[in-house]
Amino acid sequence: MFQIGNIDIHPINAGVVWMDSGGSFGLVPRALWSQYLQPDDQHRVPMVLTCLLVRAGCKTILVDTGYGDKLPDKLVRLMSMEYPRGTLIDGLARLGVAPEDVDIVIDTHLHGDHCGGNTTFAPDRTPRATFPNAEYMVQRREFEDAMQPNERTRATYLPVNYEPLAASGQLTLLDGDTDILPGISGVVTPGHTPGHQCVLFERGGQRALFVADMASFAVHFERLAWMTAYDVEPLVTLETKRRWRQWALDTGALLIFQHDTQVLAGHFVQDEHGGQRVQPVEAAYA
Ligand SMILES: [Zn+2]
Repeated sequence: MFQIGNIDIHPINAGVVWMDSGGSFGLVPRALWSQYLQPDDQHRVPMVLTCLLVRAGCKTILVDTGYGDKLPDKLVRLMSMEYPRGTLIDGLARLGVAPEDVDIVIDTHLHGDHCGGNTTFAPDRTPRATFPNAEYMVQRREFEDAMQPNERTRATYLPVNYEPLAASGQLTLLDGDTDILPGISGVVTPGHTPGHQCVLFERGGQRALFVADMASFAVHFERLAWMTAYDVEPLVTLETKRRWRQWALDTGALLIFQHDTQVLAGHFVQDEHGGQRVQPVEAAYA
């Protein structure tokens, strides 16, 4: 668990998937990225689906919901989905949280690996909110893009993950940087998608940033030019990262990485050779 002032942040491992390394590293040559991460015999690399359960005052907040349980079996097999610590719901239960207890769900963006768990199928296969009492929040720009997917984004923008929430009145659309609760805000970090947001925690002089897909792995944060092939605006990602890397150096904020199987969290520091790197901190999943 991480503590930022009176805010408790519990990372939950909602599964691990194996994704084509071309997706995770795009233009970066394998000779370089394979120094950090070993691919399997199908040229895939592991990607963990980290969600956050946050307790602040009397509110229970969930940040992102992983792939959820609606994926077709074929896709589950294709990605060799593993559950080393059970599902998101199992992780919440370990923290004493039932789906009904969640007050707010913040979606960093609407790609399937971030909001798939927003909804679940009722016995008659009707999709419904997994967290029946929650207000779900996403950037308006992200929702608009997700409702109008193009040929490239269609495979990951699946309306079943968010349309039922708009229909039930549970979806709140955010217009830009937004204070969600005292010390918790959504900050727009465009590039991966134009409406992508990170979640910033600031309390009592301490800070943490849930980096989400601004930098999927710690090494993507360390290296300005490294980014995934999924980024729809790579040159915007570059500028967004440039700004937040400087912020991370200046503030010493804790960075929480969503998809990195080796570095869950760390601080961005200047090293003795004048380079910059992520200094991992000891951290464990709930
Ligand atoms: Zn992602």
